[in-house]
Amino acid sequence: MVYDVAVVGAGINGCMVSYFLKNAGESVALIDKEGIASGGSGAAGAFISPKFSKGGELKNLIDKAYVYALDFYTENFTAYIKTAPLLHFAKYTDEIKKLQAFKQTSTLSSSPAPAEALECVSKQAKKYEYVYLLKSGVVDAAGVCHALVKDIDFFIHEVSLLTCKGDYYQIGEIKAKRIVLANGAYKPIIDEPYIKLRGIWGHRIDISSSTDIPVNLHQFVSVSASSNSQISIGATHDVHFHPQTSKQPYNVQKGRDELLQKASQTVNLKDIKILKDYTGLRSGSNDYLPLVGAIVRSEESLDKIHFYKNIYMINGVGGYGFVLAPYIAKQLSEFITTNSEIDATINPARFFYRYQKKQKK
Ligand SMILES: Cc1cc2nc3c(=O)[nH]c(=O)nc-3n(C[C@H](O)[C@H](O)[C@H](O)COP(=O)(O)OP(=O)(O)OC[C@H]3O[C@@H](n4cnc5c(N)ncnc54)[C@H](O)[C@@H]3O)c2cc1C
Repeated sequence: MVYDVAVVGAGINGCMVSYFLKNAGESVALIDKEGIASGGSGAAGAFISPKFSKGGELKNLIDKAYVYALDFYTENFTAYIKTAPLLHFAKYTDEIKKLQAFKQTSTLSSSPAPAEALECVSKQAKKYEYVYLLKSGVVDAAGVCHALVKDIDFFIHEVSLLTCKGDYYQIGEIKAKRIVLANGAYKPIIDEPYIKLRGIWGHRIDISSSTDIPVNLHQFVSVSASSNSQISIGATHDVHFHPQTSKQPYNVQKGRDELLQKASQTVNLKDIKILKDYTGLRSGSNDYLPLVGAIVRSEESLDKIHFYKNIYMINGVGGYGFVLAPYIAKQLSEFITTNSEIDATINPARFFYRYQKKQKK
């Protein structure tokens, strides 16, 4: 059988694009070297929240994606999302203005927080400006990835080569007319000099605590609302550790201490017991925006742009993978199946144009 599409990488991006392609009537083969949600997606706190900044392309994209994601997960994957209001505090005094600007300019409606939402909040955090949104969510990261692809053919295979056989590609035993690369912060499968993605290591913990938190809290880290006395705290941004290049192993205890110390600045947590650690890499681009769409062949695009034939990518979603995935994977699926436009701000070609300009100097 020749599949319409083979998706490489079964993180949230690969699973989400497989879901939309399958719903559009395409036959899909999903391939991962380890398993579903075995990369960064399995580690994610998977908080669905907006970006609290003044403005800019990333904020605009995340605002749209956040509204879309909340509806998408609640309507289609109800069992995998817990919704609660969101209380986001400024970290420092210089962030206060940013939050005030957010309240004035954002289309997301905020209101004063009710007294019960502030009950567990530390005295220190209460001194700061906050934004209170009525709805945010925390997704069961691995659970939703599995649910998205439950009817899709899944293969364990490490992809290193995409062999073009005329009108289809051969990956091991799998044949497919088109390929979507969703391989996160791992070794590139197509190595183009203008595509630069870096992996940022992160650590999240699940704890039990007698403190009852009625809302999702964000300040130095994200702290989820309590669910049966269980709370998720995430994530660290460890730029000094990388699983492939670091000489020392990752210090789990140091990561836990950092998470608890940061959480304690916002919320008074009592009777803490660590239940589980999750660690992984998230892949970020140089302008922090995702890369979604067709891939330019730089060597052959001196005068006219040439793309890899029927190969697409979805990557570089940084710390907002679960927020962005429904919105951008839908765009990619429609681009592949109906040739509709992809937002210029997320099109991988933007990096090629910048690269080409530099080369010409
Ligand atoms: C600790 C932590 C907390 C986070 N918290 C949040 C949060 O609160 N909210 C949020 O929205 N986002 C959060 N994120 C970010 C989010 O997890 C990532 O943006 C998202 O998981 C990226 O998904 P992905 O599908 O691009 O990559 P991944 O999940 O890494 O998936 C890539 C997959 O590709 C496979 N693969 C790679 N190379 C090959 C190959 N050659 N052949 C076959 N398979 C291959 C890997 O095995 C992997 O399964 C967090 C991330 C971390 C690490």
